[in-house]
Amino acid sequence: MISNMQAKNNRLNYEEQLVKLKEELHQADAVLIGAGAGLSISAGFTYSGKRFEKLFGDFIQKYSISDIYAGGFYPWQSLEEYWAWWSRHIFVNRYEDAPKPVYQELLSLVQDKDYFVLTTNVDHCFQKAGFDKERLFYTQGDYGLWQCFEPCCQKTYDNEQQVRQMVEQQRGMRIPTELIPRCPVCGKPMTMNLRCDDTFVEDEGGTVRRDGMRRFR
Ligand SMILES: [Zn+2]
Repeated sequence: MISNMQAKNNRLNYEEQLVKLKEELHQADAVLIGAGAGLSISAGFTYSGKRFEKLFGDFIQKYSISDIYAGGFYPWQSLEEYWAWWSRHIFVNRYEDAPKPVYQELLSLVQDKDYFVLTTNVDHCFQKAGFDKERLFYTQGDYGLWQCFEPCCQKTYDNEQQVRQMVEQQRGMRIPTELIPRCPVCGKPMTMNLRCDDTFVEDEGGTVRRDGMRRFR
């Protein structure tokens, strides 16, 4: 247990750090932001607890899934179930707005600077808040993009319209079979554009943005 004195010291230390950070930010010519899951959690995109129970109660009951992150690794028995989960997962974490304006506030602090963002987040919050896409490198992919499962080519595809259809038309945690997305080039099933293994597709934008980050080295 933390004593009152220690808690006070920690708070003072925290406030001192914030003041220092503000000064540094004010003086900096360029800012490199590194962001992980904690930033989206602070914006209200929590992956467990009440939010998860409210959004995925049916999946919890049927499949005993413990949180949203774990659901991404569940061994679904059919593509209809796989896409019922993923379309809801994508919809609530990518297309709905974050409950708190954390990303917008961060942008207001750096928008007049030469900034660049390196993030492992895949929920598109930086772009939704107005960060310049050319100043972002989302190393692990984006919930809003699909790629060929194979993959037969280095292309990614925006999924918003199809995701909305899947969310609206799913019944009993299954989407209609005709909504299963397929690669327009080879006809194989699509999959998420997330860096899980060596089949991850990086389109031209990813290469350009990685080059953009080099000036900070
Ligand atoms: Zn393909």
